[in-house]
Amino acid sequence: MNPVFGSVHAQLSALIGAENLVTEGDSLDTLSKDYYWYSPLLRPQLDPKRADLVARPGSVEELRAVISACFAAGVAVTPRGGGTGNYGQCVPIHGGVVIDVSRLDRIHSVEGGVVRAEPGVRLGTIETVARASGWELRCYPSTWMKATLGGFFGGGAGGIGGVRWGGIASIDTVQSITLMTLEAEPRILRTTGAEARVALRTFGTTGVMVEIEMRLAPKLDYDQLAFCTPNWSALLDWTDAATRRGTWRKRVASQFEWPIPSYFKPLKKHVRENEHMSFLLVDRVQTDEVVQSAAEAGLTCVYRRPLLDPPKPPFLSDFTFNHTTLWAMKTEPAITYLQAGFTQDFRRQMAAWQAKFPGEILIHLEWGAIDPLRVDGPDASPDAIGVGGIPLVFYQSEARFRELIAAGVELGISIGNTHSYHLPEVSVENTAARHALKREVDPRGLCNPGKMKSYPINPFAATK
Ligand SMILES: Cc1cc2nc3c(=O)[nH]c(=O)nc-3n(C[C@H](O)[C@H](O)[C@H](O)COP(=O)(O)OP(=O)(O)OC[C@H]3O[C@@H](n4cnc5c(N)ncnc54)[C@H](O)[C@@H]3O)c2cc1C
Repeated sequence: MNPVFGSVHAQLSALIGAENLVTEGDSLDTLSKDYYWYSPLLRPQLDPKRADLVARPGSVEELRAVISACFAAGVAVTPRGGGTGNYGQCVPIHGGVVIDVSRLDRIHSVEGGVVRAEPGVRLGTIETVARASGWELRCYPSTWMKATLGGFFGGGAGGIGGVRWGGIASIDTVQSITLMTLEAEPRILRTTGAEARVALRTFGTTGVMVEIEMRLAPKLDYDQLAFCTPNWSALLDWTDAATRRGTWRKRVASQFEWPIPSYFKPLKKHVRENEHMSFLLVDRVQTDEVVQSAAEAGLTCVYRRPLLDPPKPPFLSDFTFNHTTLWAMKTEPAITYLQAGFTQDFRRQMAAWQAKFPGEILIHLEWGAIDPLRVDGPDASPDAIGVGGIPLVFYQSEARFRELIAAGVELGISIGNTHSYHLPEVSVENTAARHALKREVDPRGLCNPGKMKSYPINPFAATK
């Protein structure tokens, strides 16, 4: 071990116990990684990256002591939750100390439709606890059984529930984010409203979240439904119309082009050869009506099971969002993915994109609320729902991949930058606000250095 880390190790060992430190072996490798390996572009960049040590504080006071020691030693600090991010968000580019927050997993309260909790609690646990008092998560990633609240706020976007509530940054879902600063004597800084949204999705570059307040939704009981047909357009028309119908309360609406359903091995007996598939999670009281409408449109309902309460598998959501990509890569290792947002002209965009790259793109769609205040009830606006998705791409070369992305953009499809570990910049104002927050909470630039590319202070830049 580098001598600097020998002394940091001795100090941290005295503060939180050697049993809560990891310095070598497979555990160090695992705790230095996430799911960046989905990306053929990120693999060569991030494969060599390792933490020098991993610390697992068990309380906010232990976290404070760890941060203080790291600050004094001038080492890089990277927060980590469940390590399920897709773009190397928690991979320590410059080594240093990874702070695994998974032992900070207390739920303080679920009151008035708001959960207040530590960052290391898993989202699946929050759902179970919330449901016991009549609430549910507004949105959660398909990795909810492993992903943490802090990791979702630090690196996630949305997911299940998004068709009703939008993503994590949507409306007032984030109530507050409380950060610990990286200073000699770390301070606690509580942010709310617009300020909290600045701290959201900053890839662990703006201090360590120690407490989060997130708004919940009144709970519903859901059925998990899957429909099949060889007719792609009929399936798309029906799924799209069902999703935009405000009187049907939904938690997921997804659609998969054949052969994607064939990659879902655990669903084998429900999948039909050469048939496309769509999933809906709907309020159980509406299931019969939904199934009948699908039958009238010529679709076959191949799967109908309740989402159990408390949540227990099977979960159709295990095949949605970036789980779809995971199942595909198990069968076709050459597959990778793009994150795409279509306009309301999505039918033409998809057809034109695929026509330009025959056999290279498989369509996977996820519907989501653009305006959650207008998606519900008899007066819902159809335009309040948008069509996005995670199309699969048979990767050939970086040049071909970039050509395919450029063609999508030319067709008006917005493509997320999921093949870079740098924090995407959304606007000049937002970047300025993030820089200001980082200056306040991380004066030495120690916090997940290298991820906020435009930030001028990176003391480790030369050690890339
Ligand atoms: C199969 C699969 C499916 C997925 N589906 C979805 C999906 O549906 N929706 C979606 O949004 N994402 C999805 N993801 C990505 C990922 O699972 C989620 O974003 C998840 O919320 C990340 O949580 P985590 O605890 O694993 O975070 P991590 O990967 O551990 O961390 C994510 C980021 O947050 C930072 N961070 C973690 N804890 C803290 C803290 N306490 N303070 C400050 N920063 C912190 C880290 O530094 C890192 O930058 C998927 C990934 C996979 C592999």
